[in-house]
Amino acid sequence: MGIIHVLPETVANKIAAGEVIERPASIVKELVENSLDAGATSIDISIRSGGKSLIRVSDDGCGMVDEDAELAFQRHATSKITSADDLDRILSFGFRGEALPSIAAVSRMKLVTRTKGKSAGTEVVIEGGKTLSVKPSPCRDGTIAEVRDLFFNTPARRKFLKTDSTELGHILDVVSNLAFANLGIHFSLKSSEKTLLELPPAQTLLERAAVIWGDESSHELIEIDGDGTDIRVWGIIGKPRMARANRSGQIFFVNRRWVKAASLSYALMDGYHGLLMGGQYPMAVIFIDVNPERVDVNVHPTKQEVRISKESEIKSLVYRTVMERLQQETDLAPVSRIPQDFTLPRPPDSRETSYLDFKSGIPVAPDALKMAEPSAMKLAEEESGLTQPIVFRDQLRITKVLGQIHHTFIVAETEEGMIIIDQHAAHERVMFEALLRDIQSGSPKRQGLLMDEILELHPKQQEIVKAAWPMLTQLGFEIEKFGENSLVIRSYPAALEDDDPIACLKMFLEEKEEGKLRTTIDNLQEEAAALIACKRQSVKAHDPLTPAGMRALLERLAHTENPFNCPHGRPTFFKYSFFDLEKQFKRK
Ligand code: ADP
Ligand code: MG
Repeated sequence: MGIIHVLPETVANKIAAGEVIERPASIVKELVENSLDAGATSIDISIRSGGKSLIRVSDDGCGMVDEDAELAFQRHATSKITSADDLDRILSFGFRGEALPSIAAVSRMKLVTRTKGKSAGTEVVIEGGKTLSVKPSPCRDGTIAEVRDLFFNTPARRKFLKTDSTELGHILDVVSNLAFANLGIHFSLKSSEKTLLELPPAQTLLERAAVIWGDESSHELIEIDGDGTDIRVWGIIGKPRMARANRSGQIFFVNRRWVKAASLSYALMDGYHGLLMGGQYPMAVIFIDVNPERVDVNVHPTKQEVRISKESEIKSLVYRTVMERLQQETDLAPVSRIPQDFTLPRPPDSRETSYLDFKSGIPVAPDALKMAEPSAMKLAEEESGLTQPIVFRDQLRITKVLGQIHHTFIVAETEEGMIIIDQHAAHERVMFEALLRDIQSGSPKRQGLLMDEILELHPKQQEIVKAAWPMLTQLGFEIEKFGENSLVIRSYPAALEDDDPIACLKMFLEEKEEGKLRTTIDNLQEEAAALIACKRQSVKAHDPLTPAGMRALLERLAHTENPFNCPHGRPTFFKYSFFDLEKQFKRK
């Protein structure tokens, strides 16, 4: 007697679910892709408890007739391919016929669907893979797929789910990625009846980005478009100053299918060569259109890893397109790209302006020498130049502090060449580390507001506030919910002194929303310090500094744990080697 037997379909589906459904966001992706395949123009997504208790996707697509509605839950039941040959030219998102049976195997699912022109639709109820009922339903055209109690029958998997807000974050990513790839479609995403995303059809990627990433992003994004043989690379990329501290702002699509591909991310980064500091990752939404016969989508069950023939060709096109486009942008040029026709600026006609000294070629700021130090710095006067080198770790030795450019950047000679320091970023870093020690040493003091202040929040900010609540409290903010969309602020951290606490909270929310603040809730002290450091009287751009002030700032920066970035991940300085300079002047 043999011992091999074929598994019942319910068991097979549960196993397949393990591959296809990693978390609620995977279900959202499968259901929305089905709606897109069905030709929907409007897709509404509703979530509860990060998708654990409910995911509902409604569309106005083609719907299904009654027999198809039942068939759709069988394994390998699909309307999208009929033969193996079709695999070479897939244009739909789905084709495996695995999603619906897999989802239904690990949840309580209801599907209500009606095709256009039919008087009634069909309702299918399935729990844990077992069909409980199929009956006519008086529904509208289109399809509603409802998934409740995910993993109710696989408790081990349920345990692996993260917190509701983390799962919701993944869902937000999935929906915004799909929205970037499908501009003409109206999307909405609600969590517990609150609208998180409302995306009307958009004409351009920039338009969509402005709704997803906020209006300000439109000034920081540039369009790219590059052609190769059989390949096109196009999309939007962020200017370097919009970079994030992780890859969360990088989205790649191959033939409109969202893919995870580290190699493409490296190609993108290479395109920014010299424009980013370590630990910074550019924002980008990049589409790669290739002949479908060159892409193998049938690699991973969730289809996020695709195999592309001639991948290196694609990578180099991504790199070249990004690099060449960035070279055309003038307002992000670092010094290492001094234009060939560089001429010395006219002598200053205002005492306020710094200028290049004709004889020495050294930037000097004559006025700064006479200016009093800003009080916030409280730095000792001392002779600059001719003193001990300032050593940054073992990597950099400043031999001479040369001066200030436009009261904003400090220029210094190093052993290898020169560096240009952003004085505000540098001071923010110094303050940040000092404050962090302060906060870590005990509980911060709070001060009351004379009158309660109300802060209105949009939905994404509400989610952020919810997640950051313990941190804000520890920091000294006393806040309460006020109605549906507002907060009332009763007191705030004493460390903010005279600064406007509302403006400060707003800024914090905006930074969090854009993902600029590098830290997460596990690192609440850092987050708190970054918040205050930025708001408190840091040395700002346009503050004149004395040579002693500059030197003291650089010395303090050199003693920080991370002198290379401000708390938001922006660079504190750029360095240029002597070799680079010689090359620019064609000496090499
Ligand atoms: P696949 O998308 O790989 O074909 P699924 O299990 O996701 O497999 O779906 C099975 C079939 O059910 C699809 O091929 C499609 O015909 C039908 N279907 C699923 N969702 C929808 C929807 N929202 N609107 C219309 N038809 C749908
Ligand atoms: Mg599908």
